[in-house]
Amino acid sequence: MLTVGPDGPDLVPVAAALQRARFLVGARKAAQFPPDQGSEVAFAGRSNAGKSSALNATLGLRSLARTSKTPGRTREVNFFGLDEKRRVVDLPGYGYARASDAERRRWERTVELYLDGRRCLRGIVLVMDLRHTFTDFDQQFLAFCHDLQLSVHILLSKADKLSKSRAKSTLLAARQHPAAGGGRVSLQLFSAPKRYGVEALQLHLAGWLDL
Ligand code: GDP
Repeated sequence: MLTVGPDGPDLVPVAAALQRARFLVGARKAAQFPPDQGSEVAFAGRSNAGKSSALNATLGLRSLARTSKTPGRTREVNFFGLDEKRRVVDLPGYGYARASDAERRRWERTVELYLDGRRCLRGIVLVMDLRHTFTDFDQQFLAFCHDLQLSVHILLSKADKLSKSRAKSTLLAARQHPAAGGGRVSLQLFSAPKRYGVEALQLHLAGWLDL
């Protein structure tokens, strides 16, 4: 349970809960998804945006998201369990440079299958490289989430690649982007190697997963 002291929220128990994440299953069809109970948060993003790095930084296990990068697993919806009731989900990365139309359609079907029917889904973390924000894929994905009334928290990743002031102005501009409107979208800066923004993300996950 998140407690708030005079110095702000106590994230130590939240970080500990997130670090208990263990790989459960890589699912290729809905029948392989864990039962639709408890609470889930899903991570999404274009390939190379920094999704695995964000997952590793947040869940604290270097090997965790590597699991979902092993050949064969990149097309799967990967579930990680924190406990009996809470899960973090790694959605397949989208926008492979070399993806065929058939592969893209398969990606869309898998992701729609998951997003559209998942009642335990509390929110999505969408990872975008802050130097390449709101790609067509991102906008398509955000529109889909908007239609389903899903909450989305956008990580503008690789913030260390820009100066502080440019990163800040990118964040402010992103907040004004039409695709980020609608009240269910929040944004923050993030850097995996600098661990910048990890606590803000943990706080967000704590709210969604009731940690
Ligand atoms: P994914 O395909 O979205 O899972 O992306 P990865 O997490 O594998 O990251 C893709 C590349 O970007 C790798 O070379 C990472 O080391 C690098 N990367 C990821 N996050 C960051 C970040 O916050 N800062 C910097 N400088 N590099 C990053």
